[in-house]
Amino acid sequence: MTKTPDSAVRSFIDRHEDAFLADLSDWLRIPSVSADPDRAGEVRRSAEWLADRLRATGFPVAEVWETDGLPAVFAEWPSGDEGAPTVLVYGHHDVQPAAREDGWDTDPFEPAVVGRRLYARGAADDKGQVFFHTLGVRAHLAATGRTAPAVNLKLLVEGEEESGSPNFAALVRREAERLAADVVIISDTGMWSETTPTVCTGMRGLADCQIDLYGPDSDIHSGSFGGAVPNPAAVAAELAAGLHDADRKVAVPGFYDGVVELTDEERALFARLPFDEEQWLRVAKSHGTRGEAGYTTLERVWARPTAEVNGVWGGYTGPGGKTIVPAEAHLKLSFRLVAGQEVEKVRESVAAWVSERVPEGIRYEIAFPGATRPCLTPLDHPALRSTVRAMERAFEQEVLFTREGGSGPAADLQDVLGAPVLFLGISVPSDGWHSINEKVELDLLRKGVETSAHLWEDLGENFRR
Ligand SMILES: [Zn+2]
Repeated sequence: MTKTPDSAVRSFIDRHEDAFLADLSDWLRIPSVSADPDRAGEVRRSAEWLADRLRATGFPVAEVWETDGLPAVFAEWPSGDEGAPTVLVYGHHDVQPAAREDGWDTDPFEPAVVGRRLYARGAADDKGQVFFHTLGVRAHLAATGRTAPAVNLKLLVEGEEESGSPNFAALVRREAERLAADVVIISDTGMWSETTPTVCTGMRGLADCQIDLYGPDSDIHSGSFGGAVPNPAAVAAELAAGLHDADRKVAVPGFYDGVVELTDEERALFARLPFDEEQWLRVAKSHGTRGEAGYTTLERVWARPTAEVNGVWGGYTGPGGKTIVPAEAHLKLSFRLVAGQEVEKVRESVAAWVSERVPEGIRYEIAFPGATRPCLTPLDHPALRSTVRAMERAFEQEVLFTREGGSGPAADLQDVLGAPVLFLGISVPSDGWHSINEKVELDLLRKGVETSAHLWEDLGENFRR
């Protein structure tokens, strides 16, 4: 493959880094807090600022897209090359709330550079990680001598991610045609650590469930009736306890149907990450590990589906005793899903399992309020190979793989656009997402710019349509 020298990209970045950081700082000064209705105008200002900036970068199309909530930004830069793949980069321009009084050392909306760190709300999550692509694409053009990128480059930057993306799925469906892409790159994640660059290849899905159990018409006397009528609190406890078998596998029949198992290669690569379980437990604020037999902690949180009891309540919980058979009890459950599991199928399995276990005399309601699908890109996917090569050029070291145990709107893009999803982020765990003193490491931000520049070149060459 004909590859531009890495030095061409680096020297371009050297020349433009200061202006890039000044622009990013301007954006970070806009307090685009989506959770705060009083700042809806700031979220809009942030969208308009970004659209202007993207036009100035060279994107021929950069638009503010309205939703039923806060606006998103869409930009597009066609390659002009017939067989070029189309890449959609996803990020968000809204930020978590922040105030100096929360304990910040500096004003969260007045960016401060200390050493090689830039402190501000949104520095890592997610403005910094959206913005590195703007310098990345310019470095790509300068280094290759092209006038348009080697891929059809699209950007979708939403304005409600920190508020749960309530209008995102609808926006993606509405604009599916213009968003069409061969691969989606999510730039709203991190890597393992400063010294271990990684690419994330998937996220778990999520299905919520609530079960409401009703017994006697009111709390009744346990002396007069107890032992002869069903107790909804006991049934709630039986359901919670019955969710797992002795090996901590989910005991709901059919739950594991279709699960994409870890390959030996993935297990070996996970095992190479410098994982310190004690440190992980400190972060987890937990006092021990427990999970499905036969899997490591990382495998359990990244690659295995789970059932969790989020809450169980009912009956008397006040001081002293109260000898009753309670009238009702409730359970909130959630299931993390992995690739291959279908949300509908999981819901049916859980519903059938519950119906078999609730005894006569108890009426119940089961609801599945929300769900997010899982996503996973196989290690040998050509776009993933390009991403790894681009990152290895920037970092000058081997890149390993992670997955994300949480769930996010990425799955909406995967499902509606039918494109694989990759996660490219340069943030590190110490960046303080959603916390005080959020920052981005300037050296890593720069590596993000370099990776972006190399990635468009590599995809244009190796991921032809
Ligand atoms: Zn984010």
